[in-house]
Amino acid sequence: MEPIKAEEGEIFDIELEEDLLRKNEELARRNRKILDEYKIVAIDIMGSIGTGKTSLIKNLISHLKGKYEIGVIAGDLTTTIDADRIEKEGIKVIQVNTGKECHLDANLIKKALKKFDLGALDLLFIENVGNLICPADFPLGSHCRMVVVSVTEGPWMVRKHPYIFSQADVVVINKIDLAEAMKVSPEKLADDVYKINPAVKVIPANCIAGKGMKEIIQALSF
Ligand code: MG
Ligand code: ZN
Repeated sequence: MEPIKAEEGEIFDIELEEDLLRKNEELARRNRKILDEYKIVAIDIMGSIGTGKTSLIKNLISHLKGKYEIGVIAGDLTTTIDADRIEKEGIKVIQVNTGKECHLDANLIKKALKKFDLGALDLLFIENVGNLICPADFPLGSHCRMVVVSVTEGPWMVRKHPYIFSQADVVVINKIDLAEAMKVSPEKLADDVYKINPAVKVIPANCIAGKGMKEIIQALSF
């Protein structure tokens, strides 16, 4: 079957969108400059709702909190569920509610950074809004972009979202303990990632049990 394809320039507000993306990139560069000035490493964590981003952050915090001062920016449409979960770890969390927007952008991060004592921070985890499409278009100024995908999302998540995987530095394949029950092969998902992005680091994990955490920390080169 021949699918209908959106051609470039066909969408009526394409100029508006290009302008928006350019402005976002400029703000992302400014965020990076601020982070670098304060020697803060920032990691942007992307993935669908329910894939395990918050569990991953919680587990990374439990491994790293003696060694580094950690902050978290939690993006969500309307709730504070994730921020509340992370705050229980004794970590400073800034909640960003995006309302209808399905991604964080560099301007929201700029505003959130003002809420931290940046001089006291070493490490910043940014939990992006749960989806695998537009966060890829909106760099935030982070040093690393990590995508979390879990076997419970089925076998095609990587192949259906090539753009976000092409933007990733690290990919976590989560919930590998459920792979057999889901009849989804983590190795196959990893192959799909490597086909899109041969330079990326892919790490199988179980973020609730803590499996793969050492490898993830290594991949982030702490
Ligand atoms: Mg979450
Ligand atoms: Zn969006």
